Amino acid sequence: MKIIRNIKEMQETSRKMKQKGKAIGFVPTMGALHEGHLSLIRRARKDNDIVAVSIFVNPTQFEAGEDFKKYPRVLKQDAALCKEEGVDLIFSPSTEAMYTQDHKTHVYVEHLSGRLCGKFRPGHFRGVATVVTKLFNIVQPNTAYFGQKDAQQAAIIKKMVEDLNMPLKIKVLPTVREESGLALSSRNKYLSVKEKKDATVLYQALNLAGRLIKQGNRNYQSIIQKTRAGISKKKRISVQYISIVNLEDLLPVKRVKGKVLIALAAHIGKTRLIDNIIIDG
Ligand code: AMP
Repeated sequence: MKIIRNIKEMQETSRKMKQKGKAIGFVPTMGALHEGHLSLIRRARKDNDIVAVSIFVNPTQFEAGEDFKKYPRVLKQDAALCKEEGVDLIFSPSTEAMYTQDHKTHVYVEHLSGRLCGKFRPGHFRGVATVVTKLFNIVQPNTAYFGQKDAQQAAIIKKMVEDLNMPLKIKVLPTVREESGLALSSRNKYLSVKEKKDATVLYQALNLAGRLIKQGNRNYQSIIQKTRAGISKKKRISVQYISIVNLEDLLPVKRVKGKVLIALAAHIGKTRLIDNIIIDG
């Protein structure tokens, strides 16, 4: 396994691999790898000749006052996990290399970027779309793997790839959870034992909403209210939003019909967590 820090070297390595007819599977991450990331890496390993993982804490997707500085950075540990999973290449550039002082170009996927989390993190998805575009241009993968855990991110990346005719496939894989139901996230590291226990209420609430839909409740407001009530029993948790939206445009559904995404964001103490499920109503 090779760790590459230099952009040109990564581009050159990928170019040579592709010239030899190798299929490159790519998993972009911010590191602090857990089983959620590893599920993407394993799938990439199964589907491709070469697996590349990027580890880069992207400053442009953090809002002012968010956790960019304290975000966990554990490259050695991540590299050991990648090696175990048979990863061929880790691409881990410096911030300065990715964003020179004169960096002026950004990618913004209209509409989708302003919904759900985008309402509370106005610059976040511009940062994500920009860095993912840069990473795609550097790694030149045939297929890139993303988690359903970040449903809005996955929808935005798919739209961007379609709109900008990027020559690769996007695969979105299911959310990996702890036994308690809590979705794995690098940010779970910030939670105390008690907070982590409380946080399990988020997935329970999503499941409650899912059950209500399955039982035939089609009233959006009433489902949201009941779901919120389930979470508000935990005093340390404050819900930022719960929405039932269409999978494609992420707009709230008025009457639940067909497949819908139930998505939420909440603060547990200072930590912001997101989760979602897809329900076929
Ligand atoms: P991050 O390092 O948080 O930027 O995540 C990198 C990739 O891993 C993204 O595509 C995420 O959606 C995915 N991911 C994060 N957590 C999970 C999880 N619990 N299950 C599946 N995929 C995940």
